[in-house]
This record gives sequence, C-alpha cells and structure tokens, in this order.
Amino acid sequence: MIDIKLSQASLTYVGDEQPIFSNLNVHFKSGTCTAILGPSGCGKSTLLRYVAGLLKDNVHFSGQLTSSPEIEIEQSIAYMAQQDLLMPWLNVIDNVCFASKLRGEKVTYTITEQALNLLDKVGLKNKAYQPVSELSGGQKQRVALARTLMQDKPVVLMDEPFSALDAVTRHKLQNLAASLLAEKTILLITHDPQEALRLGHQIVVMNGTPATLHPIIPPPNAVPRDIDAQFASIQQQILKLLEVDDDTAQ
Ligand code: ADP
Ligand code: MG
Repeated sequence: MIDIKLSQASLTYVGDEQPIFSNLNVHFKSGTCTAILGPSGCGKSTLLRYVAGLLKDNVHFSGQLTSSPEIEIEQSIAYMAQQDLLMPWLNVIDNVCFASKLRGEKVTYTITEQALNLLDKVGLKNKAYQPVSELSGGQKQRVALARTLMQDKPVVLMDEPFSALDAVTRHKLQNLAASLLAEKTILLITHDPQEALRLGHQIVVMNGTPATLHPIIPPPNAVPRDIDAQFASIQQQILKLLEVDDDTAQ
C-alpha cells in the first residue's frame, strides 16, 4: 500500500524554455485509481514517465515527488507505456513473463500457470505460444496489460491502456483492471471521459501551457461504475476543459 504525492511539481525538457507542466499538486492514494485526462500533447505521458523514473537527465524538475511509506518508487511500479513495448521476437507468454526473465528467474510451472490465467482473463489464452508480431494492435495491448498485471506491483501506471480496443473488449478489460488492481495505487491516463468516469476514484483534467491540473468531482458510486444519467453532466464538464487548448479542435 503506497501513497504517492506530487507537490509544486514543474518539469521542463532540457533545451526547452517553456515548462511542460508547472505547480502540480496531486495525491495518488493507495487503493484508488486516479484518471488523468487531457488534450493530446499537454504532457500526460511526460508526467507518467517522470513518476516512473524514466526521465532523469533530460529534464529539469522542481518540486517534490514523495511516497508514503518512503520507498524507492521506481522499484514499486509497473508501467504500461502508450506504445505496447512488447518484444516482437518473443511469443505472447514469454512477453507476459518478461519481468521474471529480466530478473534472471527461472520461469517455473507456477509462473507459467499464473501467466496463462491472466491471458485467459484478457481473452488471449489460445494465443499464448504465438509470436506477438502476429497479433493485432488491440491484442498486443491486451498482452501488455497481462504483463503489467503479472508484475503485481503496488503502483501501476497505465498510459491509455485500452485505447486500441473495440468497445466491448474495452468494457470487459476496464472491469478486469478495476477488480485485479483494487488494492493498488493506479494512475490511468485516458483520452476518454467515459473511461475516467467508469474507473476514476479521483479524476483530474490536465490542460494549458504549461499544463496544470483541474480536479473533477467523480460520481459517488463504487468503481467500475455503470454508465448512467449522472455521467452526462460531468462528461460535459470534462469536455469543456479538454477543449480549452486542444490543437486538433475545429
Ligand atoms: P501527451 O501524452 O499529453 O500527449 P506528452 O507528454 O507525450 O503529451 O508530450 C508533451 C509535450 O512534450 C509535447 O509537446 C511533446 O512534443 C514534448 N515532448 C515529449 N517528449 C519529449 C522529449 N523527450 N524531449 C522534448 N520534448 C518532448
Ligand atoms: Mg501520451
């Protein structure tokens, strides 16, 4: 159970003058999912990559990134990137078990069973021994989700994890993620207000240059929420904030 806090956080890529975001204050509580929405290019992936410890030498960061209890945050994180980052030369199950392989552990019967169980849950057990290069974009995203769940870390960072999925599969996997990740600290980036409303205990919209965070009051019911009438007005509120500086808006 790990809480993560960003205080007065500002970040500028080395060589840039303008910060990507500034003065962010947000508390990611254990056992909750924070959904982060924002127009394309506003800095969502940058924020997640910074928390994951992936941006060190190429950024100037001011403010604080802290955890409670105080731990090495990077060691406690499973990160699912916006691009699936699968190993194309490995088959599906070896990708799911990749973290164990990386640690030099033997892939035991128990680990294999666990991986097959997760692949079953994401609907890909029958593809376990197929090379990932033969999968569709949506199937690769599901393998990446299984790999993220396999790591069983207390903090899970997901960058648009369901974006390549059809509506029915997306709905199923949102439910799956909500149940399997219930105890963890989740940061979920999404461009879909409905996804944020279904899964977010806490919802924030990131926008502006430099970007700042705007909290949205989520519906009161437990996640995963069924889409109901309450969604419409909050969704409207979110869409307004997303339109503020969306350079793709007509
Ligand atoms: P989002 O995920 O919200 O679409 P990103 O975090 O990917 O946005 O990008 C935010 C901004 O930072 C963009 O203008 C992008 O061009 C810039 N950016 C991303 N990565 C780098 C980098 N390594 N160096 C410099 N600028 C970058
Ligand atoms: Mg992004």
